[in-house]
Amino acid sequence: MKIIAIEEHVNYKKLSEALREPLSKTAPYLGKASPEGLAYHVQPEAQDGISEKRISDMDAGGIAMQVLSYAASPQLLPPSQAIPLTMDANDHLAEEIHKYPDRFSGFATLPWSDPEAAANELERAVKKLNLKGALLSGRPSPDSIFLDALQYRPVLEKASELNVPIYIHPGFPVDSVREAYYSGLTEIVSDRLSLFGWGWHAEAGIQIMRMILSGVFDRIPNLQLIAGHWGEMIPFFLSRLDEALPPKATSLQYEISEYFKNHVYVTPSGMFDMPHFKFIIEVMGADRIIYSVDSPYISSNKAASFLESAPASDIDKEKISHLNAERLLNLK
Ligand code: CA
Repeated sequence: MKIIAIEEHVNYKKLSEALREPLSKTAPYLGKASPEGLAYHVQPEAQDGISEKRISDMDAGGIAMQVLSYAASPQLLPPSQAIPLTMDANDHLAEEIHKYPDRFSGFATLPWSDPEAAANELERAVKKLNLKGALLSGRPSPDSIFLDALQYRPVLEKASELNVPIYIHPGFPVDSVREAYYSGLTEIVSDRLSLFGWGWHAEAGIQIMRMILSGVFDRIPNLQLIAGHWGEMIPFFLSRLDEALPPKATSLQYEISEYFKNHVYVTPSGMFDMPHFKFIIEVMGADRIIYSVDSPYISSNKAASFLESAPASDIDKEKISHLNAERLLNLK
């Protein structure tokens, strides 16, 4: 079984250095949330570019290809800084991938603080650098607005025009949400609950929900998204959402589950739990599942054995392990 994993992260020093100060102002708790000894702690060097260690981990875990991305937040930078930096970061990623074209591909990072420039950079990244779409970490702005806001329409239209997906990756919540929902516990609990324990998955789920409810997919019917962590909580609530928010209430063409199943691909992001797998394949179908490990935060070592032992037909496993990714990302 050939496995292509598509939520696999690398760092680019220039990008992380430029983001250090804005991140320490916007989300000072980020750096402290993953101490050694707890899940998701990684040594800084594990996130560096393509190393022998990364390739040997892939071999040991049975991963044929990783689609790499920066889980960075260039939206915290003003356009004058974000535009040249994201171009440089995408050039760098493409150069790294080019050394091992059979083992790696990648998603672009975009200067979201200037949506027109982000659309242009997506086009350059896809056409000139052969990257396969873009990954957005969190909201596209430090303010409490999401990708459904009108100013981001050029980027979404460009993704549709280029036939590439946008990976909706989680990110930290806005301060007022963090204060209201996640404060008042011990520091480490507040930090981890507001991030990868719960809060940033809720953020990613809300972002996709708002895109559906604001009619993005009626206006841009070719747009495709990818959601990690088995769909960022939404699949579990689709039947309730259809009941609570039918077309009569939303004025949309279809039920919410129709949009989700036709416009979102889901990936496990290393949540290798069989109950999740069984539920998602029943709700979404094998055509809408793509594989991911979320390396280096999650180890690749269970990736192949989990899918091999999963209760699914051989053809469904082939779709999930590589055929869907190859089709969506045009990897052949
Ligand atoms: Ca991730």
